[in-house]
Amino acid sequence: MVYRKTFDTYERLREWQHLNDLIEERAAGQIPCRQAPDLYFPELGDGMAASIAKMAKKACLSCDVINECRTYAIKHKEEYGIWGGTTYTDRKEIWSKKK
Ligand code: SF4
Repeated sequence: MVYRKTFDTYERLREWQHLNDLIEERAAGQIPCRQAPDLYFPELGDGMAASIAKMAKKACLSCDVINECRTYAIKHKEEYGIWGGTTYTDRKEIWSKKK
C-alpha cells in the first residue's frame, strides 16, 4: 500500500516532523515501523490485515516513542495505519470516550 501523508494544518505538519525527529534521535534503526513499514499500513480487505495489525501493535510495545506516536495519532485523528500501538478502530474507541 502506498500511503501518502497529507497535512491539513501547519500544526499537524510541525508535530509530525517533531515525531520523526524523535524517532531519528532515539535510534531510528530500532524503531519497528521503520524496519517493516508495510506492516503498519495493512491493506484494507486483506484477509491477513487483522493478523498483521496485531503483529505491528505488539512491535510498537518495544518502541521508544510509543507515547508520543499514540498522542500524535489521537490528536490528529489519524485514520490509517498503526500508530503508537493502536489501530484506527482502537483510536475511534478512544475518540468516542473523549466526547
Ligand atoms: S509506536 Fe509509532 S513510531 Fe513506534 S513503531 Fe509503533 S508506529 Fe512506529
